[in-house]
Amino acid sequence: MTHCLNLGAADYLVKPIGSEVVKTLWLNVLRRLRKDERLQTFSRDATLAEMIVNYYTPPFRRVDPLDFPRLDEIAAQERRVHLRAKLLSWSFSPHALSEDDLLRCVEIVFMDVLSLDDLEMIHVSQDLMHHFILAIRSSYHATNPYHDFYHAADVLQATYYTCCCMGLLPDRTTDYQQFESTAESLGDAQSSRYALRRILRPKDVFALMIASLGHDVGHPGVNNYYMINARTPLAELYNDQSVLENYHATSLFLLMRKHGLHFHDNDQSSVFKEFRSTVVNAILATDMSTHFDYVRRIHAQTERIRELSQPSSTVEVTDADRRLLIAAVIKCADICNASRPFAVAKVWCRELMREFAMQSALEKKMGMPVSMPVDDTPVAQAKSQIDFISALAMPLFAAVSQVIPQLQFTVDQLSANKSTWEDIR
Ligand SMILES: [Zn+2]
Repeated sequence: MTHCLNLGAADYLVKPIGSEVVKTLWLNVLRRLRKDERLQTFSRDATLAEMIVNYYTPPFRRVDPLDFPRLDEIAAQERRVHLRAKLLSWSFSPHALSEDDLLRCVEIVFMDVLSLDDLEMIHVSQDLMHHFILAIRSSYHATNPYHDFYHAADVLQATYYTCCCMGLLPDRTTDYQQFESTAESLGDAQSSRYALRRILRPKDVFALMIASLGHDVGHPGVNNYYMINARTPLAELYNDQSVLENYHATSLFLLMRKHGLHFHDNDQSSVFKEFRSTVVNAILATDMSTHFDYVRRIHAQTERIRELSQPSSTVEVTDADRRLLIAAVIKCADICNASRPFAVAKVWCRELMREFAMQSALEKKMGMPVSMPVDDTPVAQAKSQIDFISALAMPLFAAVSQVIPQLQFTVDQLSANKSTWEDIR
């Protein structure tokens, strides 16, 4: 009996101990042990997820806060104005910025987003955000030519820029908005902004920004084809489905938990569940294997946005509307480099080709089929960009600019870039 009590059966005792209770005491021990075993299993799950993420993600590079103080503590007002002007320009080029300035750009984006009204249910202080941005930066592999923190910051800026164009961040005018001068385009832009603001609330904007910054966190520098062909543990874990995107989402939430980016009530709250669902859906939408399905669905959304844009409209906004619009914004941001002014687009193309070449070399070394034969001559690069713009970028940006007319300039820029690449070819 004493042995049973020591193993935890004491919880089930009633006083005084009857002889019948003593006979069944061992059953209570079994129940108790089984319960603990389940608890242990779930805590081992969390450890396992962390182990997998740590296996692929670079170790956290601790930055002394004194070496990188918060922006509002040290930066002169004029530096902040200078960097915000960069963020509000489509010519934004992370490679032309110092690493510190790039971090500060990321910080400015989140300062602007966190200053939106209606975000009081999301309790994220500037201090926490500052620490989290440093953690995200060190979780991107600096050795990747393309999928590094520069790409993350670039996607974040494109999302920020798009949200400004959509009127979701008031008092921020982008360089292209300055040209919305004709009465017709002004009218179109205003009514679409009305609809877009109905669909995306400040908390969606916050989730979209977090997803943009963390959408490729820990990227190993090879694509899903490689992960699946090499039968990596991640591919097995996610059954070959959106392997990297699932991993990025897992890593991002682990980082958030590890670095204290919590919501003010708890992780079980409906606010957190909605945030998590928005971020995960946004990151999964960046899997290019689902690209054409999204393009088709965004096309089909045009008429509905028009309906929603009528001030007298009684059509209710649904979660599906929100999810699709968020997917449209992050998908464009993810491949926006092809639609930047040509000089910027060219730098991104060079870095992407370098990463593809590294993957090809790895595949050859491992005796695997080469998924992307790389020819780094200028003519071959031009051809790859023409194909990319024609087959993937243009259909997406054309569909999205029907829903977000303020992005029409990206379609024009893609056409101009394609012509320039054709001249090189
Ligand atoms: Zn990406």
